Amino acid sequence: MKELILLKCGELALKGLNRHTFEDALVKNCRRRIESLGTFEFYKAQSAIYIEPRGTDIDLDEAVERLTRVFGVAALTRSAVVEKNFDAIRAQAPSYLAGALETANTFKVEAKRSDKSFPMKSPELCTELGAVLLEAFPHLTVDVHQPDVTVYVEIRERGAYLHTDQIRGAGGLPVGTSGRAMLLISGGIDSPVAGYMMGKRGLEIAAVHFVSPPYTSAHALEKVRTLCKKMAAWCGRVRLFVVPFTETQLAIRDRCPEDVFTIIMRRCMMKIAERLARENGCGALITGESVAQVASQTLDAIACTDAACTMPVLRPVIGMDKDEIVKVAYKIDTFETSILPYEDCCTVFTPKHPKTKPRLDYVLGAEEKLDGGALLESAFEGTTSEWIE
Ligand code: ATP
Ligand code: MG
Repeated sequence: MKELILLKCGELALKGLNRHTFEDALVKNCRRRIESLGTFEFYKAQSAIYIEPRGTDIDLDEAVERLTRVFGVAALTRSAVVEKNFDAIRAQAPSYLAGALETANTFKVEAKRSDKSFPMKSPELCTELGAVLLEAFPHLTVDVHQPDVTVYVEIRERGAYLHTDQIRGAGGLPVGTSGRAMLLISGGIDSPVAGYMMGKRGLEIAAVHFVSPPYTSAHALEKVRTLCKKMAAWCGRVRLFVVPFTETQLAIRDRCPEDVFTIIMRRCMMKIAERLARENGCGALITGESVAQVASQTLDAIACTDAACTMPVLRPVIGMDKDEIVKVAYKIDTFETSILPYEDCCTVFTPKHPKTKPRLDYVLGAEEKLDGGALLESAFEGTTSEWIE
């Protein structure tokens, strides 16, 4: 018996004329995510995408697992494809559905007939298939309101499809359909969550990480690579830029007043990130800031950081509590990595008494002493990049 994966598109259906662009992007992203498992044929019909394995030894469970993390998928399921006649359905349904029905007490059948040339109407299909299943699994009873299992039979253009309840997809929009943005990624909990959230809105994610060796270790950078890999399971491959930041940080420490070390450092990060973003086709920056979480994230501090660049800065976790962010970090499997205890460049040279209400004119005055032009230029020149997927 032939089996395939049936995907239902989410918000896509709302997009009117853009729908084809969105569907094409979704197909491309799905294809990329499972191509290492084998060869698949993709086709689209009636707001669903059909993914048919070519070959017998393809791990469909793993394919489904990966596809649950592709943005733009509302729901998905494995489904049997049978010939479009009731005898074939009757012959295949009991064995294909046995796994789900043997452990259930109640069930119902839902039929959908988009091929109107099929001789049985939907209610008749439900009754007839229901009777077949009751005979094959006599322990079952029908419950049309709250069944343990719903069996779907869909008569479509290319065949009849049999499956049970679908699983929920990742939702959101296909990555790439909203453009590209540059995520400032630390090794912390918040920034990978921020990347995931913007990926979900259809942004392709590039990432930039600032390192300050020897104050930050190779472990810290490795941790960021791992976080990018975990983000990539949702957002698709991520290009990671690594910026050498030691000289700049040392100069800030030596030349600027201590109470605005962090703000000035964050402003330098934003300037470098913005330049990288522009050179790499990004339309926005993304950070993991959340109002008042730390001294550098008060409203006044954010205002000072924001003023360092002109590109829009997206801060998707800005209004979330830490425990809400942590919940998402668990879901996307970044939490355990994020809490590994390696120093981030933000935590070296932290002032004892950071200003929580910095004024921009004071910060700009302090920043003049830094004379950062050449420093930022050389940090930019020393930046390396790698693809992570
Ligand atoms: P996170 O959990 O993401 O580390 P945080 O609460 O620790 O956030 P900060 O350390 O103040 O907050 O950093 C705020 C934001 O600045 C981070 O969310 C991230 O976007 C960016 N950031 C911090 N450190 C770095 C770094 N080394 N490289 C790139 N971006 C960074
Ligand atoms: Mg941090």
